[in-house]
Amino acid sequence: MSQRTRLFRHTRPYDTDGTRELFVQAVRENVLHHDAHCEGYHRMLAACGFSPRSLQTESDLERLPPLPTLLFKHHRLISRPEHRIVLEATSSGTKGSFSRIAFDLGSLACGTPMVLHTAAHRRLLSPRPVNYIILGYKPHRGNRMAVARTAFGSTFLAPALHRSYALQYRDGGYVPDLEHVLAHLTAYSRLPFPVRFMGFPSYTYFLLRRMEERGVRLMLPKHSKIMLGGGWKEFYTQQVDKPVLYEMIRRLLGVEESHVIEFFGAVEHPILYCDCPYHHFHIPIYSRVLIRDVHTLEALPPGQPGLVNLITPLMTAVPVTSILTDDLGILHEEPCPCGIRSPYLELLGRVGLQDIRTCAAGAAQLLGGEGGLT
Ligand SMILES: [Zn+2]
Repeated sequence: MSQRTRLFRHTRPYDTDGTRELFVQAVRENVLHHDAHCEGYHRMLAACGFSPRSLQTESDLERLPPLPTLLFKHHRLISRPEHRIVLEATSSGTKGSFSRIAFDLGSLACGTPMVLHTAAHRRLLSPRPVNYIILGYKPHRGNRMAVARTAFGSTFLAPALHRSYALQYRDGGYVPDLEHVLAHLTAYSRLPFPVRFMGFPSYTYFLLRRMEERGVRLMLPKHSKIMLGGGWKEFYTQQVDKPVLYEMIRRLLGVEESHVIEFFGAVEHPILYCDCPYHHFHIPIYSRVLIRDVHTLEALPPGQPGLVNLITPLMTAVPVTSILTDDLGILHEEPCPCGIRSPYLELLGRVGLQDIRTCAAGAAQLLGGEGGLT
């Protein structure tokens, strides 16, 4: 069994101390794979003077050169033959400026236990049938957005009786239809089954505001949950003040804050980050987060703001082992009352794109030439 498989099958998603060595071994195995099968990646590592075999301890991870996420918007780097690619997911960008990330069967097979273990830890797996309100995209075969797929995927954590979508596909495009969702929600609230929301915090807020304007107050059945998630960027581009949202959820839906669960992930780094009851995004055993100085890219100690660098050995079809985002964040190491001991990430916003563009252009130059890129 590969080290990656062992890591992703580990049943305790926050057992960092018990999996430290396994994580480093899995990253080394993953980097060796990409180095051998992606010519562009190999050239970049060589140009940086980095040898995958030199990855021995967790502190070596900061020497692994990260690829800027912008690079994946313009280049298709592949470490698997085309026939082994079973799925492609895209980020939710405007036309032409999104990342396309390929999955092989091995990555999907490892992603599944990760989702199940993380969901079980937050008590989201349930045999009790529920009605779903999806404040996001209704699946459509032309829609490859990771966010649409994860929203749909989340409706399998508890058996679905019915699903109602806020973004309907009509005449070749998506249109929001909150009236449709509100009608379903009102009907669901009268049934004896729990209701689960899943979707963008912004749409959840729009729906609640509409309820408020109309004086609609519902008391959702016991065990109902509000799951908030979307793209990584949602967490600071949306103008929703979280405490305000929690208060509206309690007042208009009768759901307590402890039943409001938030997720995030990124298409270039498909790890499921789920908040704890104190709404902290602890780093699970499947990944590491480094914060780097905006100018020097040196790794910074916890508590200092900088660029977010994400590391995971999940993907074997694309060399996204270590990616540098254009997001600013802080890693907190202070203890959290929830009992999880791994640090948690706070996202602050984005840096000016200019610096990162330069960085991406530099990497693209290194990766350029024949082989590895299309
Ligand atoms: Zn916590």
